[in-house]
Amino acid sequence: MMVNKDIHLLCEEVLPIYEDLSEDAKKVVERHLEECPVCKASFDSLSDEEDEDRSSDHINGRPFTKLIWLKRSGFFFILLFKIIVLGLIAKEFFQLNTTTEAPLGLLDEGVRANMVLFYLPLAIAANAISLFLVKKRYIAFLFILDVILLFTYDTVLLRFAE
Ligand SMILES: [Zn+2]
Repeated sequence: MMVNKDIHLLCEEVLPIYEDLSEDAKKVVERHLEECPVCKASFDSLSDEEDEDRSSDHINGRPFTKLIWLKRSGFFFILLFKIIVLGLIAKEFFQLNTTTEAPLGLLDEGVRANMVLFYLPLAIAANAISLFLVKKRYIAFLFILDVILLFTYDTVLLRFAE
């Protein structure tokens, strides 16, 4: 019974990050859930709240709150990096637009080339890393956004060109 008590303590801690556990660890948790109504109940309520913010009150103060916070920060850092790259591409476009006589068609080509050369690989890498950081549905949304950006960013910039 001593072992069960230890596993129970561990289970309470890891339930909020159940999805991030390795397959073996998940099996240990699942075996415990079968024999522990307390953990089963909190597991069920956690699954019900899957759509909600994971760092909400019920896990505040737990060590894993920090881990979730770190993952979120990593994710936002990646988003920020993407925005910076988009900003640099726009900056180059507007700089060339105001300082040279280059035709808009050529500048448009430049933006498209930059998107394929820089943004596309970055977006692929960012989405791959994000798989370990946030829920897959967020990444699906960002992936769609990336595809739209790849096809429309040059048109958007052209609208603001002189
Ligand atoms: Zn338990």
